[in-house]
Amino acid sequence: MSPILMERYRSFLPITEATPIISLGEGNTPLVRAIRLEKEFGCGQLYFKLESCNPTGSFKDRGMVVAVANAMERGNKAIVCASTGNTSAATAAYATRFGLTAVVVVPKGGLATGKLAQAFVFGAKIVVIDGTFDRALDVARALSQRHPVVLVNSINPYRIQGQKTASFEIIDELGDAPDAFFIPVGNAGNISAYWQGFVEYHQAGKASRRPRMMGFQAEGAAPIVRGTAVANPQTIASAIRVGNPASWQGAVAARDESEGVIDSVTDDEIMEAYRLMAIAEGIFGEPAAAAPLAGLMKMARNGHDFSRQRVVCVVTGSGLKDPETALKYTSIPKELPPDVAAVEAALGWG
Ligand SMILES: *Cc1c(COP(=O)(O)O)cnc(C)c1O
Repeated sequence: MSPILMERYRSFLPITEATPIISLGEGNTPLVRAIRLEKEFGCGQLYFKLESCNPTGSFKDRGMVVAVANAMERGNKAIVCASTGNTSAATAAYATRFGLTAVVVVPKGGLATGKLAQAFVFGAKIVVIDGTFDRALDVARALSQRHPVVLVNSINPYRIQGQKTASFEIIDELGDAPDAFFIPVGNAGNISAYWQGFVEYHQAGKASRRPRMMGFQAEGAAPIVRGTAVANPQTIASAIRVGNPASWQGAVAARDESEGVIDSVTDDEIMEAYRLMAIAEGIFGEPAAAAPLAGLMKMARNGHDFSRQRVVCVVTGSGLKDPETALKYTSIPKELPPDVAAVEAALGWG
């Protein structure tokens, strides 16, 4: 098995003789069993797919590598994206490594520092606009129509193609598809990609079934649940703060064809799952990456029975990208004098 994602799944990807095979080490991420939470929520088996272990700390790398390879194949020299953070980190990293210019259009406010720091260190041209993510995407799209620069948001079909490889990895590792698959939904590219991956691998005879797709939006940014676009989406989970998802239809198709669910979770539920995932399993995801567990938690508490099911939740991005949120929800210890007695007293070991 090739360690290079584009090689390993070449026959399932839009790769020609002329496509450069490039890599920053994306994919092949851990699938870890969550013994404690599986008991807590009554699942037959529960696993987390750690997409936070990708080179820039989120699943965006899987799609970016294929989109950038395609841009290079066509002789393009620049790429552009709108981003609430993780897409900009991936865009900037792959662009600088493979000799392209990266332009990143960022909505003002509520952006996680770690992600912006990545775009900065990788040397992207960053433009901050006074508007929402949806406006930033309009601007990025217009730039790509007016200039020789390729749009690498998830409406770029090569992004979806690359991202579907995570489904292949899950099936390769478990020997079959899970019964239920939990995922956060923002612009809805990822749920569309995973569904495509599960369907293609099933058709290829690599799995006996397809999972039910369980997508979760944040309550203040839940256009698909409400059935109408949200003008000013609000949630602590900035990666899914999207009011008018570009892949709306793909998400609805994934839900309906899989007999799945698209529902919402509150910010309180997201932060409860965020802490639980860290404390019970040692997994540090960013808030959006806790939305799937928040959804599982909500369904289990509403009496949904997962006891005969194998469940997978995807941890879409690393908690390290958003230290402010982590620190806001924990208490910072106060300084002590530098002696053992004081430390013992503070620990209650006196
Ligand atoms: C991009 C992103 C999402 C949302 O994915 P969509 O494809 O926009 O639905 C969720 N979590 C994290 C960490 C992300 O970076």
